[in-house]
This record gives sequence, C-alpha cells and structure tokens, in this order.
Amino acid sequence: MNITQARIIIDSVARRVIAHADELTELDQAIGDGDHGLNMRRGFEAVLADLDTLAAGDVGALFNGVGRTLVMKVGGASGPLYGTLFMQLGKSWPAELNAQTLHATCRAAVDAVAARGKSQQGQKTMLDVLVPMCDELATGADCAALRARCAACAQATVPMLATRGRASFLKERSIGHLDPGARSSQLMIEAVCDCLENAG
Ligand code: ADP
Ligand code: MG
Repeated sequence: MNITQARIIIDSVARRVIAHADELTELDQAIGDGDHGLNMRRGFEAVLADLDTLAAGDVGALFNGVGRTLVMKVGGASGPLYGTLFMQLGKSWPAELNAQTLHATCRAAVDAVAARGKSQQGQKTMLDVLVPMCDELATGADCAALRARCAACAQATVPMLATRGRASFLKERSIGHLDPGARSSQLMIEAVCDCLENAG
C-alpha cells in the first residue's frame, strides 16, 4: 500500500464515521452520555482538515498522525483508544505488506487498545469487533468475510452486559443495546473494505 492508497482509505474512514455521527450519538444516548458521534465527528473532521499535512510522509507517519489527531480531538474514552489504535498501526506498519504482516500489525494495534483500556473481548466495547477482525485476518479472510464477521460481532454486543466504560455503570440495563464503539469500529472496517474492493 502506498501513501496515495492509504490517504484514500483514511479519507473514506473519516467520511463514513462523520456520515454516521447521529447514529453513533443515538446509540450512546441509550447506554452512555450521548457524545460518541459528536466526539468521533470532531476528531475525523480534524483529520480531514489536516490530511495534506498528515499524508506528507509515508504510510506509517500518516497512521501515526491520524492517531495523534484523534487523541487530541475526540476526547472521551474512545479518543485515547482509537488514537492508540492508529498510532500503533503507524508505529508497526511493515515495509513489506502481506497477509502475515497485516495481521501482525493489526494484532499489535488492537492489543495496544486492550492494554490502554484494561479491557478484553466480551465486555461490550469496540474490542468485540476489533479482536474478531484480527482473528479473521489471521485466517487470510477476504473483505466479504471480514465484513460479515464484523457486522455479526457488532450485533452480538446487543445482548451483552457491559463491564467496561460508561455503559458498565448501567449494569443489567446495558443489556439490549448495540455498543456505540463496536458500531464505529464496524463502520471504519467497512469503509476500508470498500476502498480495497474498489481498488480491485
Ligand atoms: P465516553 O464513554 O467517555 O463518553 P465515547 O462515548 O466516545 O466515550 O465512547 C464510548 C465507547 O468507547 C464505548 O461504546 C466502548 O465501545 C468504548 N470503550 C469505553 N471504555 C472502553 C475500554 N475500557 N476498552 C475498550 N473500549 C472502551
Ligand atoms: Mg459517550
């Protein structure tokens, strides 16, 4: 992947998140404080505004810069977590991209999110989509399989009890709602898949 392709992917991820900001906010109104869409829109609007500067170097520098922008602009719990995801992607971005190095890089980034959030899969968070995404990449899955798995895993947060983040304050009342961060992760992965499929 060259910098032009990576820039197209970041642009597409940012636009997808911004287009779904109201939906993300509504999800967060049900089990949080109703700011997830606002937070994410603010962060990704800053990414779009700075894209020329962020994409002036190589792919690693772009992802790292996106991460730093998200940390500064998103706020909440999700800002540092998505910031960590992109910064770690940038730091460990491989010189030779293939199925193995892509999996290792994504796994390192998702592990960094889990360490930062002191969280793991099964707690009704973004990790319920991000960890299975890595598992799919480990099998060499194509975009169709990745999309299907992430959609199913986002939906699978509905019956879960939240044990991390603001939703955990609701205890049993967190059950029956889609996790906003799981949905935003799914949206980002879908946007990446759209770019990869369009690139043929
Ligand atoms: P806040 O909860 O501070 O208002 P946001 O609304 O922007 O932050 O983000 C909420 C989302 O962040 C949740 O839906 C969940 O997916 C994710 N999240 C919160 N805490 C954690 C954590 N410790 N580990 C992983 N993800 C988390
Ligand atoms: Mg919130």
